[in-house]
Amino acid sequence: MQTPNILIVEDEVVTRTTLKSLFEAEGYGVFEAENGEEMHDHFENQSIDLVIMDINLPGKNGLILAREVRDKKNVGLIFLTGRDNDVDRILGLEIGADDYLTKPFNPRELTIRARNLLARTSNANEDEDLPSKVNFNGWVLDGDSRSLISPSGNEFRLPRSEFRALHLFLNNPGKILTREQLILEMTGRELRTNDRTVDVTIRRIRKHFESEPDAEDLIVTIHGEGYRFCGAVDG
Ligand code: CA
Repeated sequence: MQTPNILIVEDEVVTRTTLKSLFEAEGYGVFEAENGEEMHDHFENQSIDLVIMDINLPGKNGLILAREVRDKKNVGLIFLTGRDNDVDRILGLEIGADDYLTKPFNPRELTIRARNLLARTSNANEDEDLPSKVNFNGWVLDGDSRSLISPSGNEFRLPRSEFRALHLFLNNPGKILTREQLILEMTGRELRTNDRTVDVTIRRIRKHFESEPDAEDLIVTIHGEGYRFCGAVDG
């Protein structure tokens, strides 16, 4: 595998420089951007594998920029959020960030998260192992476009966390999947205390299902255990 490239989007010079040295010491290629414009310049000129982004940025903030990043296949996204800003964290995950870390963060923790996520995203064959289309209850999960198509033909482009979670469910119909299994599939990391990542992702997937009239409850909560997909996968 080529050396992964990390793009740091952060307007605070000290934090940005610290992150740059941190990841360069780990052997990664590191690029810096102060704002969304610079971020897009890098995307045009480099192959970027992982974005580490502050939420509070001048101009377009991180939550807006995240929507622009999540459509790029095989790019991971980790958010840096202010302390105690639960709203930002939840929003970030809903928009499709793979992970988040609260400032001030532990550098070691961040490099571990980055490595885990890169192991997931930089495996270019990751999505190719899947059948390109899986049909269930009138829905289609399309691995080529990473989208979910409703029985009435609405198409939802999925952030990779939602796609990976749904893919795991479809491979294990009827089985209870724990939050630990789901977080590992989504981000390559372990579950943390008060981790909302899995629940936010499941809520997002349910919202897609609920967009249909007469929606079935395809993912049920198994209290104290996890979630179970109770639809029927064709073929
Ligand atoms: Ca900032």
